[in-house]
Amino acid sequence: LGIPSVPAKLADRRVSRKIQVGSVAVGGDAPVSVQSMTTTRTSDIGATLQQIAELTASGCQIVRVAVPTQDDADALPVIARKSGIPVIADIHFQPKYVFAAIDAGCAAVRVNPGNIKKFDDKVAEIARVAGEAGTPIRIGVNAGSLDPRLLAKYGRATPEALVESALWECSLFEEHGFRDIKISVKHNDPVIMVNAYRQLAARCDYPLHLGVTEAGPAFQGTIKSAVAFGALLSEGIGDTIRVSLSAPPVEEVKVGTQILESLGLRQRGLEIVSCPSCGRAQVDVYKLAEEVTEGLTGMDVPLRVAVMGCVVNGPGEAREADLGVASGNGKGQIFVKGEVVRTVPESKIVETLIDEAMKIAEQMEKDGVHS
Ligand code: SF4
Repeated sequence: LGIPSVPAKLADRRVSRKIQVGSVAVGGDAPVSVQSMTTTRTSDIGATLQQIAELTASGCQIVRVAVPTQDDADALPVIARKSGIPVIADIHFQPKYVFAAIDAGCAAVRVNPGNIKKFDDKVAEIARVAGEAGTPIRIGVNAGSLDPRLLAKYGRATPEALVESALWECSLFEEHGFRDIKISVKHNDPVIMVNAYRQLAARCDYPLHLGVTEAGPAFQGTIKSAVAFGALLSEGIGDTIRVSLSAPPVEEVKVGTQILESLGLRQRGLEIVSCPSCGRAQVDVYKLAEEVTEGLTGMDVPLRVAVMGCVVNGPGEAREADLGVASGNGKGQIFVKGEVVRTVPESKIVETLIDEAMKIAEQMEKDGVHS
């Protein structure tokens, strides 16, 4: 009867050129990667490597380190060599650190042309040295450090200004035959940021690094990033993402990973589906969901676990889950694929779920399923 059909998948990925950031491909058909940035002084090699190890364990695929001083530049060779994931050197102000980072074997260098005086004069040399070393460059334009000429032209950091700045810098590299580039055009306003990336996506084929800059504390930053990245990624725009939070960088990686999993751009790991609770609930669903999440965290299998507040609707509502619990009368009905397999006292729910999850995980291991 003319009911419009709704596509079951997101838009096709934008066609972008593929670049190689160390061992991680970015752009083309490479999966969208998650990156973060260390908060340590880069010159403190031990602390920086420790934080990189924590980030790597949390699923971070590329890490960026700030290089504001010569001491930081001096630390790069050891950090680049010992990091388990590709290291990008983040350079503002000083072109000489760009050369130091390339020499140090960093997987890529991020430059913010708006912050580097006489950057245009240095492009030829950077293009030559980076080209010879096979080191890609991220041109990272930020609303807060836009080229004064563009600020004067547009009055403020509009999407058009951000895009013009990025493409202008790209053109300087292109003049020297250098195209090993990815771009970011960050803004703290998701609406401006989304529009900037849309325009940029339409005007070049460089891979795009998505970011909402100064996104804020964890709650606000998570929402801003999820909304902005969600809008762009669902249109096929974005090749690597960095969630910026005023929180430990491991949190950024968790949020970034969840965004990709939510959009089906990465196979889901452990997923807790808990009911919102309602007047029928016979258990504290929020507390139980937290306990179950804590108990199952770290399981490396794509497991969907349902925590439901009542036995009336619980198993039926959670039929799609691999495993779940529905509570009522001080007991928990444990179900697998919607079928009740055991009934246990409320105090045993968490351990029984962990037990059942282990069994399913073992079976998945045997079947070769990994997250
Ligand atoms: Fe309400 Fe039960 Fe549904 Fe939870 S599972 S929302 S308690 S009806």
